[in-house]
Amino acid sequence: MKHFLGILLASGLVLAGCEQANQETGADASETGSEIAADKDDIAGNPLLAKWDTPFGVPPFDLIEDEHYLPALREGIERTLAEVDEIAANPDAPTFANTIEALESAGSDLSRVSSVFFAVNSANTNDSTRETAKLIAPELSAMRDAIFLNKELFVRVNAVYEQRESLDLGAEQMRLLSESHKGFVRSGANLDEKSKERLKEINSELASSSQQFGENLLDETNEFELLVSDRADLGGLPGNLVALAAEEAKRRGHDCECWVFTLQRPSINPFLEYSPNRELRKKIYLAYAMRGDNDNDADNKEIVVRMVALRAERAQLMGYASHAHFVLSDNMAETPERVYELLDQVWKPALALAKKERAALQKMMDADGIADQVRGWDWRHYTEKVRKARYGLDQEALRPYFEVGAVRDGAFAVANKLFGLTFEKRDDLPTWHPDQEVFEVFDTDGSHLAILYMDWFARESKRGGAWMNALRSQRKFGGEVSPIITNNFNFPAPTGDSPSLISYGDAGTTFHEFGHALNGMLSDVTYESLSGTNTPRDFVEFPSQVMENWMGEPEVLRMFAKHYKTGEPIPQEFIDKMVASAKFNQGFATVEYMAATYLDLNYHMLGYPAEIGDPREFENAAMDAIGLIEEIIPRYRSGYFAHIFAAGYSSGYYGYMWSEVMDADAFQAFKETSLFDPETAAKYRKHILAKGGSEPGMDMYVAFRGREPSIQPLLERRGMAGNDE
Ligand SMILES: [Zn+2]
Repeated sequence: MKHFLGILLASGLVLAGCEQANQETGADASETGSEIAADKDDIAGNPLLAKWDTPFGVPPFDLIEDEHYLPALREGIERTLAEVDEIAANPDAPTFANTIEALESAGSDLSRVSSVFFAVNSANTNDSTRETAKLIAPELSAMRDAIFLNKELFVRVNAVYEQRESLDLGAEQMRLLSESHKGFVRSGANLDEKSKERLKEINSELASSSQQFGENLLDETNEFELLVSDRADLGGLPGNLVALAAEEAKRRGHDCECWVFTLQRPSINPFLEYSPNRELRKKIYLAYAMRGDNDNDADNKEIVVRMVALRAERAQLMGYASHAHFVLSDNMAETPERVYELLDQVWKPALALAKKERAALQKMMDADGIADQVRGWDWRHYTEKVRKARYGLDQEALRPYFEVGAVRDGAFAVANKLFGLTFEKRDDLPTWHPDQEVFEVFDTDGSHLAILYMDWFARESKRGGAWMNALRSQRKFGGEVSPIITNNFNFPAPTGDSPSLISYGDAGTTFHEFGHALNGMLSDVTYESLSGTNTPRDFVEFPSQVMENWMGEPEVLRMFAKHYKTGEPIPQEFIDKMVASAKFNQGFATVEYMAATYLDLNYHMLGYPAEIGDPREFENAAMDAIGLIEEIIPRYRSGYFAHIFAAGYSSGYYGYMWSEVMDADAFQAFKETSLFDPETAAKYRKHILAKGGSEPGMDMYVAFRGREPSIQPLLERRGMAGNDE
């Protein structure tokens, strides 16, 4: 059961890739159970718990009200605990069926409710759902501990595990058994009673801290606005983004000819690129960079200090040198040394490249007559100028060819050519927001494969970034169930006369999340807890990132990148320019990402007791140690590093690059044959996408590629293999 390995093991209530809304692995001892005295009448009438009498069994969003979530979640916890108690108390000798498979089936009501709740709370939150999330986080972690630290239950799991060689289990069954057993051990099942009690306290505090971190961040992000009242300060900002900023100003009650920019990336990034007003760029840049670090009520520094200390203590309880050692032992990388080995190969050439880029920006800024060195708030602005001068490429001139619907159709077309999938829009299914689109997805033979929700536009009720989650995961055990997947984005909403025109980078994001969706939709395994994106953190970004490769191929661009007004395909001249500039600014992108990766590891390599002091100073020291240049800050600074303090990526942010080694090498397999080579695509589907987490990542990769991945394609792609620039 994902309920088991998903909710309980990875504590992943929501499954996704890049920006995933996982809760901190957490638990709590004190409060649960007793106060779950929900009125039974309420429960009976609660649409979350009733049978979902909808097409394909999609959640009845039209019937669900905010106040339904908390009682349904609490009832789900009750039922899960009762089911698990029954398994633990079974008088029969423990078997694979009555213990491991029984656990796989347990918690299905909770899984159904929590999948919907956490998806909605990420994409369409409000005060009520935020309050529910806050209340339920410690209760869920308490439930998790009640299960994993249940002695009788572990005795049974362990007994089955000890007999594993004589049980005549299939490969996937064996995997389920060993993963389940490992889940118990990694959750503290082997600890003495005193340590177990301390573990529960730690988990509980981590769960609520992580929740608070995310809330503070949302407040800090929404709090700020940059009001611009001089048209000249917008520079060459494209018309649709100007209109969007004007609408934002109106929405916020400014009755003037003015524009508002926010700290959400679709708003701040274009402003930083286009505004010639250096002071305003500095203002919004610093507001972004200081989130969670303003010494106010929403400051996240104390939470960071506390979480790092608690994680180190937990690692020590578990017998590991650090939190990083603990986390990595359950990932493809296995040890921090292997992660550093990868990072250190890329860091030096990346930093050298970024310095070269800086010199080019400085030249451009000097030419503008500005007597200062390039600063962080200048980087994007002058990058665009250099890009234009060097390649004649104006990123924004591309937008008309990347209307969001066209990009979506491009992703669908690629899935059709690779795997034979087809997509049919459904307007009759309930959604959580009117902007959401729903598609039924069919396999090659025309049979139903999955339901796919796509929620495109930025709004205040949505967390930042882009992500995928499964409202229902594929499985065969206990009756075949097809997946229900969501993709979520923060693209600019359409305005009066313009549809949503997204950037080239956003188009890559679309293909990326769609790659996660394919992993979820093409999953073909027996057990839910091993299906879809239930894979290690450093593997999960492989199927998503590999899809980005197709997006950038000229052949694919010609298929979908058409002018939204004229329908003209993107001019060859633009494609040539894009190909020529593919490695442009890769130094910055790599350094910015890797700086955050090192920061994550620096925090989590500390042994117990981990006392970091002031996170601001800790972060500065960590960045000095790798020689980061001051014009670039980590992609996420400590105060807003939600991946590691509000989601499940602690010690795992490196996973994007680890996955990229595989994605770059895997795409080579297509380049060596052809972009849509049927044989390679079939192998990729069979050995990677269909497998979910039912085999170790490297085994799957080797089955697909015939060998382990090489780092060379990644270095080449990023312009770091020799003298590429
Ligand atoms: Zn991802």
